[in-house]
Amino acid sequence: MEKPTGPIAIPAQIVVKDLADLLKISVNEVIRNLIAAGVFASINQVVNYEAAAKVATEIGYEPEEALVAVPTGAAIRPEAATIGAKTAEQGRIVRPPVVTVMGHVDHGKTSLLDAIRNTRVAAGEAGGITQHIGAYQVEVNGRKITFLDTPGHEAFTAMRARGAQVTDIAVIVVAADDGVMPQTQEAIDHARAAKVPLVVALNKIDKPGANPDKVKQQLADVGVVIEEYGGDVICAPVSAKKGTGINELLEMLLLVADIEDLRANPNTRAQGVIIEARLDKNTGVTATALIQEGSLKVGDTIVVGTVSGKVRAMFDDTGKRIKKATPSMPVGILGLSEVPEAGDILTEVEDEKAARALLQQRRNAAAAAQNAISLDTLYMQMQEGKVKELNLLVKADVQGSIEALRHSLSRAGTETLKVRLIHDAVGNVTETDVHLASASKAIIIAFNVKVDGPAQRVAANEGVDIRTYTVIYKLVDDIEAALQGLLEPVYKEQVDGHAEVIQTFKAGKRMIGGCKITSGKLTRSSRVRVMRGGKEVFNGLIESLRRGKDDVREVLSGFECGILLEDYNDLQAGDIVEAYSMVRV
Ligand code: GDP
Repeated sequence: MEKPTGPIAIPAQIVVKDLADLLKISVNEVIRNLIAAGVFASINQVVNYEAAAKVATEIGYEPEEALVAVPTGAAIRPEAATIGAKTAEQGRIVRPPVVTVMGHVDHGKTSLLDAIRNTRVAAGEAGGITQHIGAYQVEVNGRKITFLDTPGHEAFTAMRARGAQVTDIAVIVVAADDGVMPQTQEAIDHARAAKVPLVVALNKIDKPGANPDKVKQQLADVGVVIEEYGGDVICAPVSAKKGTGINELLEMLLLVADIEDLRANPNTRAQGVIIEARLDKNTGVTATALIQEGSLKVGDTIVVGTVSGKVRAMFDDTGKRIKKATPSMPVGILGLSEVPEAGDILTEVEDEKAARALLQQRRNAAAAAQNAISLDTLYMQMQEGKVKELNLLVKADVQGSIEALRHSLSRAGTETLKVRLIHDAVGNVTETDVHLASASKAIIIAFNVKVDGPAQRVAANEGVDIRTYTVIYKLVDDIEAALQGLLEPVYKEQVDGHAEVIQTFKAGKRMIGGCKITSGKLTRSSRVRVMRGGKEVFNGLIESLRRGKDDVREVLSGFECGILLEDYNDLQAGDIVEAYSMVRV
């Protein structure tokens, strides 16, 4: 872009957003320049002429103070002029951002979290020794940032699958000497599916093999376009090992937080999410909660997941006892009778009675909540307006299959319903995939790959639909059929029982098999196949099933019976009659 020049009139006070419009640059850029000038303001805050002029000069303008009229007319907006008045009225004040660090293995997530934590120790804060409670806070320029201590997208997505979204910003760590790797891509997809803004930490820039430009290009190739390349993703070069660039990264996080305008009301009842919990021999149940709204105080009655309790004591991430925890603060809580799970929602209630009522309500809601989507029910949910996007997560055997699937799926969808690929990768379907699908209400497509055991269990628990395909057109057909409500249900054969033919009887032209049920049961309506020497010699229906002279509906294992098959009179002693049914899957 051409560098702006010439004089520009700036009012005595101007809202950051309007300043961006006036200077024809992004809000990002304004806030960053303000920070450089030592002014910390968010998108809707007002800055004075002096600060605005510094930004304008930096960009290349020659600022001068507007004496009478305001060029954009914005700074005189009453709600903007009285800074924060409206939000203060609602009691919602700026809260620290909550940040999760994700990225490929060995790219330096743990090192980065350590380096960030050390910035505080270096600042000589009391104690200096951090308590591992699953999260910690650091202070930058007098403002706080909360970091979740479990790096990686598994925890992030598992929590989200439980309905808890705690992260405001995702830091994607990419090693400058290694570049975008499969888990980098996964992390990006997970953050995107959660609609969480990204900041790239380009790590290991101290290494001789570091090639930042190459990595930036790779990021652009996967759709993460950094500012330098004309996009809006901030990229901070760092060395977790040497501690370089850490402060700049932290400042960038504050910048993104300002753009997101994160707020909470500290003066209401507390609401939070459990991020870690354990049973301690000495202190009993210790749970770490991240407070999201309100303030939690010692003595408060709380409901956590499906248990209630009273806050007996609290401590912060330095192990210091505290009496009150405010929004975005991670806090250790003593006083629960059972160990809650990560992702459980914490709610402060008035008293025991309210706690009981809420628990009952949660149980009812849990019973009613089956919010997973399956391809079978898609049309119905579409009609009810419950889905507007069909989210798919694709795992395939080779990259080529993914490309082909992407291509075919890009043409699927209707005017009212879009097909969106939230993640694709080569490999089996894993538990993490299922969590991501569950959190994003997505259907998993397994193309020529297997579903891991744990993934199968979680999918069954959470009602995630996993569909296995070996040919692309079948998959595309199914999706299109589902969009039109025409999907044929899928049936699977289920063996119900076996009978062995002991001897045969002739009755006119018909042949009756005198059988013994050796497993399961046979029912009158069973479909059966007759196996002789390992080969199927008949496949059809039962005409009648008899015990003695009586027609019966079913015969159980261990009993004998007479079987007459429809249109079949060649039963022989030693034949195995296998009963099966087709069940809908
Ligand atoms: P994680 O698996 O992403 O948590 O990665 P780690 O933090 O465990 O780091 C993996 C390896 O990279 C370790 O041997 C670190 O010492 C090394 N490492 C991490 N950050 C840097 C860095 O900035 N520069 C260099 N040279 N090595 C680093």
